[in-house]
Amino acid sequence: MLLDIVARSLYSDKEVFIRELISNASDALEKFRYMSVSAAPDMPQLEETDRALAIKLTTDKQNRTITFQDTGIGMTKEELTQNLGTIARSGSKSFIEEIKKQGAEQASSIIGQFGVGFYSAFMVADKIEVFTRSSKAGSQGYKWSSDGSGTYEIQEADGVPIGTKIIVYLKTDCREFSDDDTVQNIIKKYSNFISSPIYLNDEQV
Ligand code: ADP
Ligand code: MG
Repeated sequence: MLLDIVARSLYSDKEVFIRELISNASDALEKFRYMSVSAAPDMPQLEETDRALAIKLTTDKQNRTITFQDTGIGMTKEELTQNLGTIARSGSKSFIEEIKKQGAEQASSIIGQFGVGFYSAFMVADKIEVFTRSSKAGSQGYKWSSDGSGTYEIQEADGVPIGTKIIVYLKTDCREFSDDDTVQNIIKKYSNFISSPIYLNDEQV
């Protein structure tokens, strides 16, 4: 199954999940920026267009978590289901074939190419929770959660700010990703091309 392949083939390169989740947050902010200046007649009404656009990471050693929060476009229930809901997204099959062809060492570049980015977080996670609310006016907030074994749950959640918050509950042997210094180095390594400000535990990186 895909997650096992991703998890095993990337064993040596687990930190790339941080790059993948930051790049998704950055995409979400770019989409919001684009929509907020677009004058196309079919554009939905947006809420809170003057909010600060940023990516905030938080680490918590005690609870062994790393959290990624953005104030970007967010997801509706339909988008959650479509985007995170199905492991068998169109890229998955070709992704597996490509891994077989090119070998596991190429896995991280193949991940970028085939867009299984979000799922790379299950390399390090026992459980992932996603809280999201679309910036389309009047949207309800939702919580998505999964232990990566192939099923997921979606429920309504109140008080969710616009954008997306992803809480990664780290496996015992991946606790290093709840360490501030370790995460700071990884962010510096991968995020030169991210145009939105990135904060780690409230300090700009
Ligand atoms: P890709 O980024 O290549 O599309 P991913 O697996 O990284 O593939 O993400 C799947 C999809 O989930 C994204 O295309 C996007 O629609 C949605 N998504 C993931 N993270 C976020 C986020 N932080 N905010 C809004 N949408 C997101
Ligand atoms: Mg991505």
